[in-house]
Amino acid sequence: MISKSHITQRFISYVTVDTESDPNSDTTPSTEKQWDLANQLVQELKDIGLEDVSIDENAYIMATLPSNVSHEVPTIGFISHFDTSPDFTGANVNPQIVENYDGKDILLNKENNIVLSPDYFEDLKQYVGQTLITTDGTTLLGADDKAGITEIITAMEYLIQHPEIKHGTIRIGFTPDEEIGRGAHKFDVEKFNASWAYTMDGSQIGELEYENFNAAGAVITIKGKIVHPGYAKGKMINSMYIAQEFINSLPKLETPEHTSGREGFFHLYQTSGKVEETTLHYIIRDHDKTKFEARKKTIEDVVETLNKKHGAATVTAVIKDQYYNMREKVEPVMHIVDIAEEAMKSLDITPIIKPIRGGTDGSQLSFMGLPCPNIFAGGHNFHGRYEYVPVESMIKAVAVIVKIAEITATKNS
Ligand SMILES: [Zn+2]
Repeated sequence: MISKSHITQRFISYVTVDTESDPNSDTTPSTEKQWDLANQLVQELKDIGLEDVSIDENAYIMATLPSNVSHEVPTIGFISHFDTSPDFTGANVNPQIVENYDGKDILLNKENNIVLSPDYFEDLKQYVGQTLITTDGTTLLGADDKAGITEIITAMEYLIQHPEIKHGTIRIGFTPDEEIGRGAHKFDVEKFNASWAYTMDGSQIGELEYENFNAAGAVITIKGKIVHPGYAKGKMINSMYIAQEFINSLPKLETPEHTSGREGFFHLYQTSGKVEETTLHYIIRDHDKTKFEARKKTIEDVVETLNKKHGAATVTAVIKDQYYNMREKVEPVMHIVDIAEEAMKSLDITPIIKPIRGGTDGSQLSFMGLPCPNIFAGGHNFHGRYEYVPVESMIKAVAVIVKIAEITATKNS
């Protein structure tokens, strides 16, 4: 229904604009250059015929496709983000198009011998015969999440051109700074005014997600006592050794490298230490709320034990919750997941429903009052030089958006 060249052209017109976000900036958007694509998108939304196209002072974009039925249909939304990850450069993206992929190695960059190989990236094998868009090996691609933007705009354009497809009011929202965890925090849920929404920000075709981690960060500070090492007997307290005790007191197999599925973990991601003071930075993750709370309690218990042994206030922990599992907000309105699942099945896409081992903007939005599961955008290997997206997956995502709109209108007629 959508031509490959049309959607490819649109996608390339976005990924060739650098929109890398910056966690060290306090502004929104975090980088000035995100305005370049934001302004381009606003113009395009007007050009295809959407209404109420708006961009606010923080570069959040919203627009409306009005209902074309006379009965009441809940307003639904589709959301994606236009920034790219600071993990890898997004400047001078030079997309390569691999038509009729033969299932073999793809040479991304001859000069540096950078190869995208199905031996390592096995998912490639499911796209034999399809058209892939890759990088030239020197940048990320930005399919995360410009594939999502491409799909939403293309779906709206398709609905405008096909008034015989019946739908209710559809709202679309594009945000900056998702990659630095700030995509949702200035999102005006009230102004968006939808009953529910979907982020188009998942990876491979079929992904449908409504569960993510509960998340907290913990900073552990350990105080020591510095004394001249030659005269330290019975006096020196080396905070690094106490830090070691702390690390050894947490369950050794409950770390990212030993867990998968719904298993939670403690992740020590940064340490700095001298004799006088050592700090340990952890993140704590668990899908299950009770186990999540128990993990935080474990940290507090270890702190207490070590303080009993080494003296009061030797070890302190500051634990801060970061985000929660959206499941508790989505489960009471489970039909919004069912509609997406039904849409995929009617298009011969096998839904892959699994818990996200991370967070999404949708989880924050769900807790802000906008239940928001996540749907595939089609790309693979995000945040790096091996990122790629099959054009066929983007076209399928467009079809899913159109179908969700259609089902929502008929379910409520
Ligand atoms: Zn993303």
